[in-house]
Amino acid sequence: MAQETPTFKLVLVGDGGTGKTTFVKRHLTGEFEKKYIATIDAEVHPLAFNTDVGAIGFIIWDAAGQEIVGGLRDGYYANAQCGIIMFDVTSRTTYKNVPNWHRDLVRACGDVPIVLCGNKVDIKFRNFMPKNIDFHRKKSLEYCDISAKSNYNIEKPFLWLARKLFGNPDLVFTALPALAPAETMVDSDLMARYTFEFESALANPLPEDDDDL
Ligand code: GDP
Ligand code: MG
Repeated sequence: MAQETPTFKLVLVGDGGTGKTTFVKRHLTGEFEKKYIATIDAEVHPLAFNTDVGAIGFIIWDAAGQEIVGGLRDGYYANAQCGIIMFDVTSRTTYKNVPNWHRDLVRACGDVPIVLCGNKVDIKFRNFMPKNIDFHRKKSLEYCDISAKSNYNIEKPFLWLARKLFGNPDLVFTALPALAPAETMVDSDLMARYTFEFESALANPLPEDDDDL
């Protein structure tokens, strides 16, 4: 990454098994340049995007398994400037834990841009539908359906973060980093239906309960 590229620390959080490592490894340059930080038990992957207003770099932090046994260490979150919270659309438990990950992230990093990603939408019988996902609306986060294995929407969370971090809602990527080939395919009609359902659900009022979910 060029020295003068504005670069931001991005923390990836979410339950073990949701696909965080798979997601970050899709980007081949980051994979090539990754480093393991033993004191924090995390891997860091640099990743740069070219945009119409210049390059932007992310240093993506991916926990090496500590998230399975408990919370992440303070050093993991230290000075993070943005975050991605991941859950698995086939596992309700991983969605139920989203408020906990969000709380930890905000406690450590303050009001930074955060994208909520529902991963594994390639799985046909997703048991967690777009209309059931509303945590992001309560907390003003962005939401993306993604499938790390099929590269579906894989750049979308980065695009939204780049727009927020540069304060430019019209920013576009002009070149995308190389991706590993898709390991599976998404059904485009089904993805269009999910998008439609998701957008329709935005018209519904949020439930009034004070519960986080
Ligand atoms: P992490 O613990 O959050 O880092 O999750 P991993 O990246 O290790 O993935 C956990 C499991 O989910 C692995 O078996 C992956 O192959 C699988 N997985 C990850 N992303 C996807 C996806 O988009 N679709 C499907 N079907 N499986 C995925
Ligand atoms: Mg992992």
